[in-house]
Amino acid sequence: MELTGGCLCKAVRYRISGSPLTARACWCRMCQQIGAGSGTVNAMFQTAEVAVEGELCEYRTVADSGNVMYWRFCPRCGTHVLATSEPRPQFTAIRVGTLDDPERVRPLATIWTSAAPSWAAIDPALPRIEQQPPPPGTAAEPGR
Ligand SMILES: [Zn+2]
Ligand SMILES: [Zn+2]
Repeated sequence: MELTGGCLCKAVRYRISGSPLTARACWCRMCQQIGAGSGTVNAMFQTAEVAVEGELCEYRTVADSGNVMYWRFCPRCGTHVLATSEPRPQFTAIRVGTLDDPERVRPLATIWTSAAPSWAAIDPALPRIEQQPPPPGTAAEPGR
């Protein structure tokens, strides 16, 4: 699978040579901040398979899970393009809305539903995980 995408102003572009390890809708409070009232949808890839062109700014946070996260966004248009975590640098989470064709990746689960507001539109067909699920490649990973 090859996927391409980038930010709103096109200063940042990426090309992905692999298939997603998983993809999830996330309603954690930080995703609500950047999702402007919704959550975010993120597809996880091997970092080695993601090639980024253009400069990304980074914002360091400590997630609700306790993990140090780097939120990477375009300094010109502010689009959040991807995120990485300190404990697992081998994985890169791409914001699915930045794909040139977001139809090509769909979420397999909804996570952090415990943090979602009562009016959140959550796909009833997908498994719900109240908080942070285990990382990809572990036995308990839903949908894989
Ligand atoms: Zn941009
Ligand atoms: Zn989140």
